[in-house]
Amino acid sequence: MFESLSERLGGVFDRLTRAGALSEEDVITALREVRVALLEADVSLPVARDFIKRVQEKATGSAVTKSITPGQMVVKFVHDELTRVLAGDEPPEALKIDNPPATILMVGLQGSGKTTTTAKLAKRLKEKNGKKVLLASLDTQRPAAMEQLAILGVQIGVDSLPIVKGETAVQIAKRAKTQASLGGYDVVFLDTAGRLHIDEVLMDEVQAVRDIAQPRETLLVVDGLTGQDAVNVASEFDGKVGISGVVLTRMDGDGRGGAALSMRAVTGKPIRFVGLGEKMDAIEPFEAERVAGRILG
Ligand code: GDP
Repeated sequence: MFESLSERLGGVFDRLTRAGALSEEDVITALREVRVALLEADVSLPVARDFIKRVQEKATGSAVTKSITPGQMVVKFVHDELTRVLAGDEPPEALKIDNPPATILMVGLQGSGKTTTTAKLAKRLKEKNGKKVLLASLDTQRPAAMEQLAILGVQIGVDSLPIVKGETAVQIAKRAKTQASLGGYDVVFLDTAGRLHIDEVLMDEVQAVRDIAQPRETLLVVDGLTGQDAVNVASEFDGKVGISGVVLTRMDGDGRGGAALSMRAVTGKPIRFVGLGEKMDAIEPFEAERVAGRILG
């Protein structure tokens, strides 16, 4: 998912670690190249700038230990800073699903992978956590999307709320909550309608559903391939409805990785999961340390 960034950084660090003694100038040159690599990966400018500043401060302020070369030390600082920028100061928590039935509100633009992600998370909770899960689609404008969630439900062996024609999103949300309580479900997913663009109608509907549903988690699903756009979408949704975390999809594709790297710093919201393909198992919790390791190869 970060192939080109990895390659670029690999080149910079190869040169750096091969050189024995490093001058301050070597470090500055290397970090300048790191900055360019981050920008090429579509990391936002303030994030890239801050990143380099922090690594530079550490590099100039640190005593070189004997066990590693100065070059290796710079690589370590970059690794630590990558981890920090990906995760923020606190690692993301597990999904809050205590006090059943816990409602998870899924929001995002059409085509982001919201319905697929809803089903993937439901399957995970069922198989890994032994939870009884209910799915409900609120996409009243697109009957095909409602059907799609029901079909995925059958495929993964998870119940979905029967579709009743003519209901509003808020009515479906209420019915889903009632059904979840009566049926002894642990978790109920509300898959809200997506639109091609953020508009007032979409946000009003999501807000109304949120107010009724009182979700424990509001997860925004965004397409990781869209780079800075994904970060902008997250900022807008967070401002309007408040999100508790982000799921970045299509991280199996050849995106440049900028969305992942800027998300936490720009929005303050953690990436909770990454989507890695179309299959129902193709989702992983987001682990900053591992991703940082992957980026540095
Ligand atoms: P929605 O309109 O946001 O509900 O989007 P869908 O869930 O219908 O997904 C749109 C398309 O993206 C479908 O073909 C999915 O299989 C695909 N998709 C979703 N998540 C991923 C992912 O993580 N990786 C890849 N490669 N495809 C995905």
